Amino acid sequence: MSHPPFDSWIYTEQLGPEQSKSLQDHLASCAECRQLQQSWQAVHKVFQMAPMQSPQIGFTNRWKENLEERRLLQEKLQVRRFILFTVSISVLISFVLILITAFTASPANWLVALIRNFTDLSIHWNQTQSTVSFYLRALPPIIPISLWIILTSGFSLLTLAWIGTMWRISKQGVYSK
Ligand SMILES: [Zn+2]
Repeated sequence: MSHPPFDSWIYTEQLGPEQSKSLQDHLASCAECRQLQQSWQAVHKVFQMAPMQSPQIGFTNRWKENLEERRLLQEKLQVRRFILFTVSISVLISFVLILITAFTASPANWLVALIRNFTDLSIHWNQTQSTVSFYLRALPPIIPISLWIILTSGFSLLTLAWIGTMWRISKQGVYSK
């Protein structure tokens, strides 16, 4: 059972003097509204006792610093994962290539192909190393991680292209016999 307007006046912080007086008169005679007012005052007290906790000074800054650290760590992990992935793929492709060569060619041809591959590998490796070290000397000492990613992807693509070429050459060699 509600008693307008008194039940809404109970929740109103600022009442006019006349409204306040008539509310007090009503509360004196109405147990229901008195109960409502007591409940509201209890709730109000609880809200006043538990003020909003504002963040401690420096917390926001610390959080930002941690975020930056986390971002850098994330990038490092991504680079590591990428390198690991590339190396794994290269090893896998090499293994498959060796298997194909072993099963399609005679042992003598296989040995020759293997030696040729290793010779080519060492030649390419020396070329790649000198190219990379040339660019490393030309670059500033601190290289951003993003640049490392670009360099690594470029190098990986070159490696994959080289592996593809090797595969085509060895395949042609096998089929021409
Ligand atoms: Zn009432």
